[in-house]
Amino acid sequence: MKTATRDPAAQHLWRPYTQMKSTPPALPVVSAEGVRIKLADGRELIDGISSWWTVCHGYRNPHIVEAVKAQLDLVPHIMLGGLTHDPAERLAARLAALAPGDLNHVFFCESGSVSVEIAMKMSIQFWINQGVAGRTKFVAFRGGYHGDTLATMSVCDPDEGMHALFGGSLAHQIIADLPVDAASIAQFEALLDAHAGQIAGVVTEPLVQGAGGMKFHAPEILQAMRTACDARGLPLIFDEIMTGFGRLGTMFAAGKAGVTPDIMTVSKALTGGTLPLAAAIASKKIFNAFWSDDPAAALMHGPTYMGNPAACAAANASLDLFEREPRLQQVAAIEAGFERLLPAARDIPGVVDVRWQGAIGVVEMQALPELDSLKAAFVESGIWVRPFNNIIYLMPPFTIDATDLETLINTALAVTRRWAGQHFAGQ
Ligand SMILES: *Cc1c(COP(=O)(O)O)cnc(C)c1O
Repeated sequence: MKTATRDPAAQHLWRPYTQMKSTPPALPVVSAEGVRIKLADGRELIDGISSWWTVCHGYRNPHIVEAVKAQLDLVPHIMLGGLTHDPAERLAARLAALAPGDLNHVFFCESGSVSVEIAMKMSIQFWINQGVAGRTKFVAFRGGYHGDTLATMSVCDPDEGMHALFGGSLAHQIIADLPVDAASIAQFEALLDAHAGQIAGVVTEPLVQGAGGMKFHAPEILQAMRTACDARGLPLIFDEIMTGFGRLGTMFAAGKAGVTPDIMTVSKALTGGTLPLAAAIASKKIFNAFWSDDPAAALMHGPTYMGNPAACAAANASLDLFEREPRLQQVAAIEAGFERLLPAARDIPGVVDVRWQGAIGVVEMQALPELDSLKAAFVESGIWVRPFNNIIYLMPPFTIDATDLETLINTALAVTRRWAGQHFAGQ
């Protein structure tokens, strides 16, 4: 007997983060162009979240589409073991040139979570290869998000990462409060010292904790982490999967903060939201710990589709667009739009904070009860916005024009105001 679902289209397709029994039907998409998503019933939505923060140049950018088509005609996929190809070689060199400091060694994989796993594996083996035993744990932060695989869940926020539910299956890491001032930086350093000898590395999202709640922190916090890690020889991992490729107004958050990590992970906007691709980019120091006459010192990792040529062609084309078109100025224009229009949200009932940085605009609510009704109201008003927990956020493609940006922000606020009037009346 088959399980009945409310949504017949979900009979076989198991959806992300979804209670399949109660979920409202998903909206069928037939095409997407620029910042617009076209639904099967003919409606068009302005995209406010860039398909999970990937589509930085808008949908179907012709330069990327052409590059992928041309690569498909040459070699769609080829293994990277024992063989190599120009798209991966070029992309690795370009990422090394763009990444700060001596982050020069690019290891490809297919998803963000896996790139974080690789960064963790690199850090653990970094110690093993130097003959240091026992350094197997990571320091990570409350509010952090690093992926959905078991190892990355262990460095996510304990609640969001479901450390309790999956407790017995997850590695036990050292989860700290993200420092905010001199006193908490001192506490963080004391924590590093209390666990000295156990710690393989420190992992954080730089400047913005994304899926954990769109929380911002100051560059000084990252500078203090860098200093603390340097003093103890600890690898510092920046997970730039959300912040990378312009989202905060610079190519990487590391550059904006003036801090170079030992390993940086990238994915999401790497291919301009075209094909799955990710990378862990390591410094000379990390790479050198694997450079040896001993075969056992090699990094024993190799995802089947790593460095997929079509995905690398898409990523190279995406980097071309960052070079040729004024993307970072467009991000600055989006930031200016948030600065002008978003503060109006402050007097909406139930709003506790309004903030923005680069092309991220956030309206934080006390709570978002009956979230499905708010999501539906956004769609009815012609925008695609997916609030989570108590967060309503906008992360449009960088190519959104001034008119669409204004429509997106003002519609989001008008819908939220109407909806909040029903849920937070009298506040
Ligand atoms: C999305 C995200 C990940 C996970 O990437 P996937 O490709 O979904 O596995 C990890 N870290 C951060 C900061 C992310 O935003």
